[in-house]
Amino acid sequence: MISQRLWGRNPPVDSLTMSLAPTASASIQAPARAPWRRAYAEVVTDPLELARALDLDPTVVAEAAARSFALRVPRAFLARIERGNPRDPLLLQVLPGLLELEARPGFGLDPVAELARSPQAGLIHKYQGRVLWVMTGACAIHCRYCFRRHFPYGEHLGGIAGREAALEFLRRDPTVREVILSGGDPLSLDDIVLAPLAKELGTIPHLERLRVHTRLPVVIPERVDATLIEWLTSTRLRSVMVLHVNHAREIDGGVAAAVDRLLRAGVAVLNQAVLLAAVNDSVEAQVDLSERLFEIGVLPYYVHQLDRVAGAAHFEVPDERAVALMAAVSERLPGYLVPRLVRDDGSSPAKVPVR
Ligand SMILES: *Cc1c(COP(=O)(O)O)cnc(C)c1O
Ligand code: SF4
Repeated sequence: MISQRLWGRNPPVDSLTMSLAPTASASIQAPARAPWRRAYAEVVTDPLELARALDLDPTVVAEAAARSFALRVPRAFLARIERGNPRDPLLLQVLPGLLELEARPGFGLDPVAELARSPQAGLIHKYQGRVLWVMTGACAIHCRYCFRRHFPYGEHLGGIAGREAALEFLRRDPTVREVILSGGDPLSLDDIVLAPLAKELGTIPHLERLRVHTRLPVVIPERVDATLIEWLTSTRLRSVMVLHVNHAREIDGGVAAAVDRLLRAGVAVLNQAVLLAAVNDSVEAQVDLSERLFEIGVLPYYVHQLDRVAGAAHFEVPDERAVALMAAVSERLPGYLVPRLVRDDGSSPAKVPVR
């Protein structure tokens, strides 16, 4: 069994979505919620509905696994999954499966030792010059292999008071050059929260870059709307967005259009993927992914070896095979389309190349 005892289940999405909002924001927003909020609210969370929508036998969805980490699939992502195919590489990323419930040695709750590296509620400071800000536990999609699937968001976010303290920490440390908004998915938060934050970060003289780690433009492309572009580009900081796409088929016309809006606004767009057994652990899948990314203007940045989080052992690709795979990929592509194979070992001063 995966132990949920220590940290409990993820808190309800809605409370987290608003956790950083100034108290008045709910009423300011209420009359006109952003259009993407509808897609965000209409995600599939019911295992039976998933099975029905995809013409699958309902027994392929393990409800016990969905109770430990909820099923959550936006409809735009669902539409890219092949009907009637229980092995579809997009489906496997979101399908609660029985294998998740098997305890495996070496797979734990905090696989990359983040909790030990938090100087301030919400902030993780592991690497020189960069501070990662865990802004929310909410995600539009739930990826079964997620390394933060057991992250104790509830205790760690710190709410509105935490926001001020986190900003104060960043103001006081002149070695920090880049802030990385992360989560969960930071773009789960409303722009009414993010826009003032980006502006505030821009007033900290030693900061140079604002990075956003997000899967939302991939799974709900309309999230990249004019309001988002506005705050992302009106700050003094150079904006970088790092997407999370694991398979070429995740990219459709909607995703291409969202990326195009970002590129036209001058945002640098990169991708990180996770190497996942049966999803993208073939030369073909990796080559297709890189080529498809570049077709829409995105450069492959990292392909991560799986973080050993409880419940995700069946996604692991052994190092030796991963290295051979990426060597074969590098024979097929220009160097700039070969992502770096790395792992987060929890203690090194940077992501560690796997070789
Ligand atoms: C991965 C990570 C970063 C970013 O690392 P880069 O190599 O700059 O992409 C920063 N902080 C933490 C805690 C991370 O896990
Ligand atoms: S979008 Fe990212 S943070 Fe959210 S579940 Fe997927 S991998 Fe985890």
